[in-house]
Amino acid sequence: MKLKHLMSGLLALSLLAGCTGGIAPSPTPSVSQEMEAHNKDTFAMDTLMSFTAYGPQGQAAVETAAKEVVKLDQLLSVTGEDSEVWALNHAQGQPTVMGEDALALLTAAQALGRATDGALDVTLYPLVKAWGFTTGSYQIPGKDTIAALLENTGYDEIAIDGDTVTLPQGMEVDFGALAKGYAGEKCVKLLREQGVTSAILRLSGNIQTIGAKPDGSPWRIAIRDPESINNSDYLGVLELVDQAAVTSGNYERYFEYDGVRYCHIMDPSTGAPTQNPLTSVTIVGPSGTACDGLSTALFVMGRDRALEYWRSAGGFEVILVEQDKNVWITPGLADQFSLKDGLGYTLNILEE
Ligand code: ADP
Ligand code: MG
Repeated sequence: MKLKHLMSGLLALSLLAGCTGGIAPSPTPSVSQEMEAHNKDTFAMDTLMSFTAYGPQGQAAVETAAKEVVKLDQLLSVTGEDSEVWALNHAQGQPTVMGEDALALLTAAQALGRATDGALDVTLYPLVKAWGFTTGSYQIPGKDTIAALLENTGYDEIAIDGDTVTLPQGMEVDFGALAKGYAGEKCVKLLREQGVTSAILRLSGNIQTIGAKPDGSPWRIAIRDPESINNSDYLGVLELVDQAAVTSGNYERYFEYDGVRYCHIMDPSTGAPTQNPLTSVTIVGPSGTACDGLSTALFVMGRDRALEYWRSAGGFEVILVEQDKNVWITPGLADQFSLKDGLGYTLNILEE
């Protein structure tokens, strides 16, 4: 099964050359021997990840990063029966000792849950399952089922005491909205510790960069066009230096019924897939974990609430894409983002 995932991942990657996760076409810089590129691809967290680091420490560093994401996947997987998350979800209300990474994620998840007024809620797993997003056997649960399942959610009910975590019986935690961002951020730390000063890590729609390219120019990544039929086209190019960029979109995993699209980002206030005119949200900032959590949360919020949140919280930049082909970017990205011509999108730069 893993192999099948890997193959479809590889196929998707080749189709998507140049899309989110890919580097947009740009002249190849001439690099000196010391700044040679070192690559490592790995399959973890249900996705193909691709790491590139420059310089003499590069190869060892990307190998370390690849091992780290596999380790994190084993610890944090909601379906792996020997993961810490599995242990927590099956503890029947009993206290569970958790490791450093799971604790860091639980703490970040609660903080982001509070900050976003619950738009990010890592306890929605029973609903994610009920709608069929874990198996692909999609269905629309009845109102009563949804109401009953919502009773068993609420990120604030996760009790953390030192290294011990207690989850009320019936509740389940799922780090799907945060784990890749956390993994990317952790890998950046590992790479820096090994002396890497120039790197790009692609974990599906999550990008983490260290420094600039070896020639000093910014990394150029492509943001996917949410409307592109086979996801092969890109919306525009985003330049990054020392930043993470994470995209959540309604095209990642979804089903359609009676002309309505149901995507894998759930609205905690309804217990149903988020319905609003947004088609994708990209967050740019220093922390991969925060960018990942916020890309999911701001998608749930919809444009107006998302922008209100950006204005009050700050510390990150946003690209919002809407069904009517309007693209909204925060002013900090005005010099970093350029829209691709000919796709019919309109770029709107927001005011401070
Ligand atoms: P992707 O997995 O495509 O990177 P996201 O980061 O947006 O996308 O995370 C979506 C995943 O997070 C879902 O598959 C589900 O497991 C979980 N999830 C869905 N809705 C929410 C939510 N409102 N808060 C927290 N986790 C969510
Ligand atoms: Mg996310």
